[in-house]
Amino acid sequence: MAVPSTWSTQQLAEFLAAVSIAPDSERAARLAVQRAAEGLEAEVAAIVRDGAVQASIGFPQGKVPTAELVAAVSHPTMLLPGLGRCRTTAAPFDETRGAWLLIARISDEGFSAEELVLVRSMARVIGLTERSLSVIESERALREASERKTKLLGRLIQIKRSIVRRTSTIEDVLESVVAALSDLTGHDMAFLRMIDPNNPDCATVVASRGFPADLLESVRHARVGVGASGTAIAEDRTVLFEDYAGDARSNPDSAQRGVRSAMAAPVRKQGEVVGALVIGSTEATKPITDEHREALEALAENASIALTDAAMVDAAFHQAYHDSLTELPNRPAFLNRLDHALAIAERTGNEVAVLFLDIDRFKTVNDSLGHAAGDQLLVAVAERLSGCLRDGDTPARFGGDEFAVLLEGVDGHADAEDVANRILAEMRRPFDIQGRQLLLSASVGISTARRRGEDVLRDADLAMYRAKTGGRDRHARFEPEMHEALVERLELEADLRRAVDRDEFVVHYQPIVELATGDILGAEALVRWNHPTRGLVPPGAFIPLAEETQLIVPIGRRVLRAACEQAVRWLDRHGELTMSVNLSGMQLAQPNLVRDVEEALRDSGLPAEHLTLEITETVLMGDDEPTMNRLRELKELGVRLAVDDFGTGYSSLQYLRDFPLDILKVAKSFVDGIGDEAQGVALARAIVELGDSCELDVVGEGIELSEQRQGLIDLGCRLGQGFLFARPADPQTIDALLSERRAAGADQLPEPPSAREDASH
Ligand code: C2E
Ligand code: MG
Ligand code: MG
Repeated sequence: MAVPSTWSTQQLAEFLAAVSIAPDSERAARLAVQRAAEGLEAEVAAIVRDGAVQASIGFPQGKVPTAELVAAVSHPTMLLPGLGRCRTTAAPFDETRGAWLLIARISDEGFSAEELVLVRSMARVIGLTERSLSVIESERALREASERKTKLLGRLIQIKRSIVRRTSTIEDVLESVVAALSDLTGHDMAFLRMIDPNNPDCATVVASRGFPADLLESVRHARVGVGASGTAIAEDRTVLFEDYAGDARSNPDSAQRGVRSAMAAPVRKQGEVVGALVIGSTEATKPITDEHREALEALAENASIALTDAAMVDAAFHQAYHDSLTELPNRPAFLNRLDHALAIAERTGNEVAVLFLDIDRFKTVNDSLGHAAGDQLLVAVAERLSGCLRDGDTPARFGGDEFAVLLEGVDGHADAEDVANRILAEMRRPFDIQGRQLLLSASVGISTARRRGEDVLRDADLAMYRAKTGGRDRHARFEPEMHEALVERLELEADLRRAVDRDEFVVHYQPIVELATGDILGAEALVRWNHPTRGLVPPGAFIPLAEETQLIVPIGRRVLRAACEQAVRWLDRHGELTMSVNLSGMQLAQPNLVRDVEEALRDSGLPAEHLTLEITETVLMGDDEPTMNRLRELKELGVRLAVDDFGTGYSSLQYLRDFPLDILKVAKSFVDGIGDEAQGVALARAIVELGDSCELDVVGEGIELSEQRQGLIDLGCRLGQGFLFARPADPQTIDALLSERRAAGADQLPEPPSAREDASH
């Protein structure tokens, strides 16, 4: 081999410098042929590889004689079109792939030895450059792939962030998923199809990118099981249609409109397939790659997370604004609606009314039939309530047995009253609960003022309270003075609590006598509140409130103990006598009651048969299992039980048989009838006879006149109580009375009462 001269070294150095700066192998090839032709002063230079010409110089564009150049690699001369016969030389640089540097020069002489060395050296430089460039290029490909991944990751993070922060609606998130899919894959169609909740066989495009409008319209609704999305939904997996038109599963419509390939991945909500995310291509030369699959599946996963999250948020929202038992809006939801309605009313001049509804004696039902029945009843009430309303009205449940209704666009108070009457009528119809017919009623308060929602609601609540205290099963309209009544009530309540703390209660007693002889056989304990400024307050003025606030429980316990202790003292001093103590329904509902009675008896030493517990009829009407059991346990202690104010409740007489009763106290109103021509004695007679036939002792209450006393004796009533014999009085007065009676003997009628309580009686 000839030693290269300075000339050829120079040429090679320039060639190397030029070729090695090429950024990719295409460019390197072009530079190489150009510099090689220049360095060798040749008309033609080419790189021939694998029977093709990769780069060449010396021919006009599009006129490269490929076949001649390929053949020239193994011939010393060649005939070039337009140039004539040329001398050629070729040097290989990548034998495995048959790559050659070919030089062709018009000259009579061949290439010098030095030139041949130069050509071989140039070929080697090209080979080396190609190899290093291929390393660089594969590195670049890798880097680009990782850049695409980073881009995908970036989009996914963006979407996740908007899901987590809930800054966008679910629709926006799904739009951004489809947009990301389109951007990342570059395919001409990207869309999300969701199963139609009303028609699970059908799925509809809810977000799309790159669709021609007519194509979108024709494929908007599709059957599940057909096409890429339909198949992905039906099979719950990613599916690829490489040759869309040739695939039996494809949608003929889409195939006809030029869809060439498609891929779909299922989208799930709370684990269940609800749709599919899809890419499709109308270009034959753009295949769907693994990288596209990765993007598609990652984005489908994101859409699933977004849908699941939205469903959970919806559920949480629903929970926050609905009553879970009745599915009605709850208090916060109602207040929102009310404020909104009030704001509209402000603008339009319309009126808004709020009805506040409370079921009468719901607690009794709940306590007696159990919570399951109570819940069923509340659901039934909610249904009836909703049934009474027009479309725009809003019913709500505030918890317990409290309901409210918002009436929008009412025309004055009369409208609201009409609705209230409809509701009251609905509540009076019997309820079928657990095979029983329950008769109920409700109390409704109405407020129509235009103020803050909270205030309107409070006013309606106050009016409802008035309906309750006015006798229940009615409605009442809010009046401003109800506020004062409320304030008074609150003051009274505070006062009463203080009274319990300071034990401001005293017990007075009213004798119970044998009507025929006037003999004192017992006494009823009647509580009074010894108020520091108001003096002696009668029970009617505070017992209802004490029952409502449960303060009756501690008050009743003290009365019971005081009465038992008093009875023991009188037993010791005056002989045989029974003590009657009133029990309120609230006390009877206390599981501790039996223990309280037991302790009062034990601590005082009163034999149980000397204690009578008086229970009002309404308590017995509850027909409630725990109360019934408690009464039996009280009976087992040995105490006697009396029905107080008999005849004033309107219940069945069933309980007279079912409960373990001993005494029936005829309400004063019937005793009053005895002296009254118009009313006559019929009712009193019926009651006395009823008591007799049930083998109960009968006590006539509120006897004020001797005719009443005589009348009762004539009816066969043995016992009585009333101002005619003695008013309730403090223990000393009664003690004196007892001594007097015993001293006088029991054979004569009593004098007019000497024991005066307070003038109000
Ligand atoms: P009650 O148990 O039916 O008691 C009889 C009431 O009739 C007493 O009223 C008594 O003063 C009144 N009275 C008796 N004879 C006559 C009469 O000839 N004419 C008139 N006009 N009234 C007569 P009082 O003491 O005001 O008690 C009212 C109600 O308060 C009682 O009715 C009872 O239901 C309740 N009460 C009283 N003390 C207690 C108690 O310690 N606990 C409970 N839970 N309730 C009590
Ligand atoms: Mg009583
Ligand atoms: Mg009574």
